Amino acid sequence: MKTIVLATGNSDKATEIKAMLGGSYDVVTMKSLGLDPDIVEDGKTYEANALIKVHAIADELSPKGYIVMADDSGLSVDALDGAPGLFSARYAGEDVTYLDNNKKLLDAMKDVPDDKRTATFVCAVAIIFPDGREWTGRGEVHGTISRDFRGEGGFGYDPLFIVSEVGKSYAEMSDAEKNHISHRYRAMLKAKKQLDTYSRYVAFHGEKQD
Ligand code: IMP
Repeated sequence: MKTIVLATGNSDKATEIKAMLGGSYDVVTMKSLGLDPDIVEDGKTYEANALIKVHAIADELSPKGYIVMADDSGLSVDALDGAPGLFSARYAGEDVTYLDNNKKLLDAMKDVPDDKRTATFVCAVAIIFPDGREWTGRGEVHGTISRDFRGEGGFGYDPLFIVSEVGKSYAEMSDAEKNHISHRYRAMLKAKKQLDTYSRYVAFHGEKQD
């Protein structure tokens, strides 16, 4: 089984992504391999930030045959010109809680009418294959920002994001339900196609690709 190293220290993310990839890859965090580089996410797009993360560990891991992968995600609200966007994790400031970010978002949206509350959750994924080839792709889910907290599950902006095609907030869904519709899942489906193609090639031709 091929091992994918995620450029994150978050082992929950590794478990979630392993499940999304259908269990055909071993998914581990960089920290579990003793790597913890300082990563400055100062890209101008989600894809650029995901690439910054994979490049931080690829020099060390690609020669050893590992596939390295990272994701970068955020919530883009139309009425706020795309905010919090790339700054989703630190919308209310550095070292803030999810609750601080959600309260700031509700406040920023308090005068926005129902038909203008549209938003998109975005997840970009970057992969560097052992032969040095890079790939990026993204998944998106469209929805609206609620007027109050809805649901108990999930994390981050989940209680405020109503998925248009379901009519429920991410936080009102079970983990399994969210993980079969989410922006991260949609990005991972595209990533899986790339990974499966690579794995098939290696199975036939060996590790080195021209
Ligand atoms: P990261 O790309 O995992 O660092 O996510 C950046 C930020 O986006 C997180 O801190 C959350 O605030 C938000 N975010 C990303 N994915 C989700 C999600 O599935 N639900 C809720 N918030 C999310």
